Amino acid sequence: MTASNYENVVIVGSGPAGYTAALYSARANLEPLVVEGWAWGGLLQQTTDVENFPGFPSGIMGPELMTQMREQAGRFGAKLELDEVTGLELSRDGGLHKVDIGGEVVQTRTVILAMGAQHKKLGVPGEEALSGRGVSYCATCDAAFFRDKPTIIVGGGDSAMEEAIFLAKFASRVAIVHRRDEFRASQIMLDRARETPNIEFLTPYVVSEFRSGDDGALAVAELKNTVDGSQRSLEISGAFVAIGHEPQSQLVADQGVELDESGYVAVDGRSTRTAVPGVFAAGDLVDHTYRQAITAAGSGCQAALDAEWYLRDTPAPDVDAVAVQ
Ligand code: NAP
Repeated sequence: MTASNYENVVIVGSGPAGYTAALYSARANLEPLVVEGWAWGGLLQQTTDVENFPGFPSGIMGPELMTQMREQAGRFGAKLELDEVTGLELSRDGGLHKVDIGGEVVQTRTVILAMGAQHKKLGVPGEEALSGRGVSYCATCDAAFFRDKPTIIVGGGDSAMEEAIFLAKFASRVAIVHRRDEFRASQIMLDRARETPNIEFLTPYVVSEFRSGDDGALAVAELKNTVDGSQRSLEISGAFVAIGHEPQSQLVADQGVELDESGYVAVDGRSTRTAVPGVFAAGDLVDHTYRQAITAAGSGCQAALDAEWYLRDTPAPDVDAVAVQ
């Protein structure tokens, strides 16, 4: 890599964690550079109404919320760059880190990782086309749109149980479709789901296809028995896929940042400090438990404060020694 720049803070990612980190570090006069990716705004760009973000009593559309977060960060001097980070070269000894942004290499004293996580997809026909039209990956976000409607949850882990129990408060019926007769979910979550009158279990089945009705919205899930291969059709209005998340940590996989067995970035206690000095991580990249916009925003704030304190307590590099390489 060759280098041509020197920043205080580079933030990688532009969801609630990234923009909140940008807002706080911009207000601390650190002039952060935010590498937003080509599609800024993260997972909230794929949602409609957000009714659980405090401060918006009538709700707000996901893309509008992200637009406002982006504008707020920009107002205080965050430098927003619509580009991808294509490589990272992290210093392990407190020196400058190198960030390759589409071929241009920037040096920086701190990096805040906020690349988020993606919902795992089933990869079956109809899933992508009906996403947002009945197929969803977040019951906490979308359950209220399926009041008195028949629905399914796909998955057999704690997320599937939790989403099913929440969804059952709204939907007329929730069928948990799982590919095995055994469940990965904890016993307590499984028991709670079993005790919920409008939840039923359909095993061992996988969804083989989602089909739409005349109105273009989800109408049918085609299921296939994983043991005997038999098929059945379920008429439904909503399908929630809860088969896990994939943290977007590929960029730092070989950079000394510690990852857990699922690929989430490990941080030191309640801080956002990673195993590499000057590198912090926030949001869904770290959190496989809460995964809410508000918790991601909160950890973005923590990351900005951690970075600010690191910069305060760590001698600045000698500018002459940081000449363009
Ligand atoms: P998970 O435990 O990895 O479970 C994913 C489920 O999806 C598994 O049942 C898996 O089936 C199924 N699955 C995966 N790929 C599939 C595919 N392509 N087609 C059909 N089914 C598929 O993920 P999670 O439920 O999101 O939980 C992640 C972590 O967060 C866990 O440690 C969990 O305990 C924790 N969590 C805790 C709570 C809580 O305590 N309140 C709530 C949510 C999550 P197989 O079992 O056959 O592999």
